[in-house]
Amino acid sequence: MNDQLRDVIIIGSGPAGCTAAIYTARAGMSPLVLEGSLDAGGALMTTTEVENYPGFPEGIQGPELMDGMRRQAERFGAEFITDDATEVDLAGDVKTVTDGTGAVHRARTVILATGSGYRHLGIPAEERYSGKGLSWCATCDGFFFRGKPIAVVGGGDAALEEALFLTRFADSVTLIHRRDRLRGSEIMVERAKKNPKIDFAWNSVVVDLHGDDRLESVTLQDTRDGSTRELAVEGLFEAIGSVPRSELFKGQVALDEAGYVLVEGSSTRTDLPGVFACGDLVDHVYRQAISAAGTGCRAALDAENHLASLQ
Ligand code: FAD
Repeated sequence: MNDQLRDVIIIGSGPAGCTAAIYTARAGMSPLVLEGSLDAGGALMTTTEVENYPGFPEGIQGPELMDGMRRQAERFGAEFITDDATEVDLAGDVKTVTDGTGAVHRARTVILATGSGYRHLGIPAEERYSGKGLSWCATCDGFFFRGKPIAVVGGGDAALEEALFLTRFADSVTLIHRRDRLRGSEIMVERAKKNPKIDFAWNSVVVDLHGDDRLESVTLQDTRDGSTRELAVEGLFEAIGSVPRSELFKGQVALDEAGYVLVEGSSTRTDLPGVFACGDLVDHVYRQAISAAGTGCRAALDAENHLASLQ
């Protein structure tokens, strides 16, 4: 057990956690950040060019952006531990967070910023083509596919939205769906069907990806008879859902049906006093670095106000 009672512990070091760290550090709260053991820096560490984060007119590499955020937080006194939170006890006035070495850290407030992961198809070739034609985020990467043939996997509103958005850039968009009808809302389905750039690969699943350096084609398998065919695409966007990293907090803070941490209105307050949540861990919709950073800022201010209310 660590004797020090901190003002705040932040779990996660993506844009949300780092922004919360910058704000709480500047407010004199000496935050401890458990940055994660494998994914320190968060989702942007896995990408190359980030072109939509304000302040970088020529774009910036994801890892460079995250390194800057981390150093900015450290400059004001944030302390980072490269480890996971493995156990938390968030009820009560003093919260405890245990790290991978078994050390127990104590604080009056905790900010949850563990993000979410995109659901993957689960085929081995995904790792090879990630960032080389394979993407999980049209808003982030659509721009790189101007004038190219691409495909989107999925059948819900998210997939339809991605497909429609991508028609702004791509030559053609093939929507690949495992069934013969879409799950999305009627209005989105109609919009997609009317769009001349979108066509459909029904009853199809992606079973393999090909290309030398970058993606050049995918193998589709027919879900009815098992037959396969090749589809030439330079981009593949997977829109088959996301999984919030909230397992650790289950049974402590309230989660919605999909596992996202529930917060009160536009604040970052969870149902436990002194516990705040931000970034993709609470966000079904926007899921961008700037929106995660924005809620990280709110979480820091909410935590600061909470501490002030205790005095
Ligand atoms: P994350 O960045 O996911 O960070 C989560 C953090 O929690 C990580 O540090 C992880 O180590 C930590 N963590 C998890 N579990 C634990 C634990 N038990 N203990 C301690 N730490 C833990 N957005 C854009 O705006 N522009 C882009 O160009 C862009 N490109 C993208 C490209 C890719 C390939 C991906 C995957 C995403 C991209 N995004 C982009 C989306 C953006 O990265 C996310 O919206 C953003 O990173 C979410 O921030 P976050 O802080 O909520 O979570």
